[in-house]
Amino acid sequence: ISSQTMEMNRFEELKELLAQPKKIVILPHRNPDGDAIGSTLAMSHYLTKLGHECEIIAPNDFPKFLKWMDGAKKINIAEYKPSKARVLVENADLIFILDFNSFGRIDEVGDWVQRSRVPKILIDHHQEPDQFDFMYSDTMMPATCQMVYNFIEKMGHLDLIDKTISECIYTGIMTDTGNFRFRNTAASTHRVVAELHDRGIEIDKIYNNVFDTQSPTRMKLLGLALNSMETFPEFRTAYMLLTRKQQLEYNSQKGDTEGFVNFGLGLNNFVFSVIFIEDQQNDFIKISFRSKGNFDVNSFAREHFSGGGHVNAAGGKSDLSMEETLQKFQELLHLYKEELEQVEI
Ligand code: 5GP
Ligand code: MN
Repeated sequence: ISSQTMEMNRFEELKELLAQPKKIVILPHRNPDGDAIGSTLAMSHYLTKLGHECEIIAPNDFPKFLKWMDGAKKINIAEYKPSKARVLVENADLIFILDFNSFGRIDEVGDWVQRSRVPKILIDHHQEPDQFDFMYSDTMMPATCQMVYNFIEKMGHLDLIDKTISECIYTGIMTDTGNFRFRNTAASTHRVVAELHDRGIEIDKIYNNVFDTQSPTRMKLLGLALNSMETFPEFRTAYMLLTRKQQLEYNSQKGDTEGFVNFGLGLNNFVFSVIFIEDQQNDFIKISFRSKGNFDVNSFAREHFSGGGHVNAAGGKSDLSMEETLQKFQELLHLYKEELEQVEI
């Protein structure tokens, strides 16, 4: 249904490689989200069905709301068991890189992967990918999970997509499209989802597992974040912040602040929302950017906060103090005033 749009260089060669059982390592990015975990698990289940031996290696741990997926608990966390992860990379015959496209996104794992000489396969929808042996890169795609579906289709194996694989793919599509509301959610996305329905997915259960399993702590943190919100109607911009102290006080766990940034976009006529979150261990501030319309937060994050991502969702960081970071951000807003004024929503 959608393979005509899938273009991977040297696809036939890759198909040959996958015709014999291989040891395969599959990598999501640091701080993996629903699409990263969904796509790596779906790919792992699929390749295992083909007779390969698969291991997923995440650079660091990921939140509980993604651990219900089949196989999630078997994902290797490099941060906890670095030597095991390193040996897995060293012994791999093939390496799949899903939902990110530069080694900078996987910390130390990136060094091991770069030293490895085995073929590397990229499947990803972020901008400006590095070069890999086999590449399926499409920035029009709303989720890597949709690309994994396309890949399996192109391999001629749609019959191997069972309910389990469908749940993983659906989770990534649901989360990366903001529940099917972002603009790049296409007819092809809904067609893929229709195929997943045919395989028995229960969308209410998946939604519940991902979104309605929040802790009271998270709700309290959300309260703090919302209370911190500063609004700049003249720039159609809002920001929030969470200090390290606040997070410690509420015993904030990984993933607790996921999605907070979106609340700024709920303000009438606002098009740019940002949250600044002090890292709990190291001296830097993690920043999340969200926008509407054609205001490009990928470029904004890239140019000013050593980050990147997509047009409407990006991340970055700052090594300055919170006060200095906010100062820098507010000064930057002035440079973008016209652009922000002109965004059509
Ligand atoms: P989030 O704000 O949820 O952490 O990230 C939003 C989007 O931007 C995701 O697609 C994520 O992969 C990407 N992203 C987040 N942080 C960074 C970063 O530091 N560098 C790059 N290149 N992308 C990022
Ligand atoms: Mn993604």
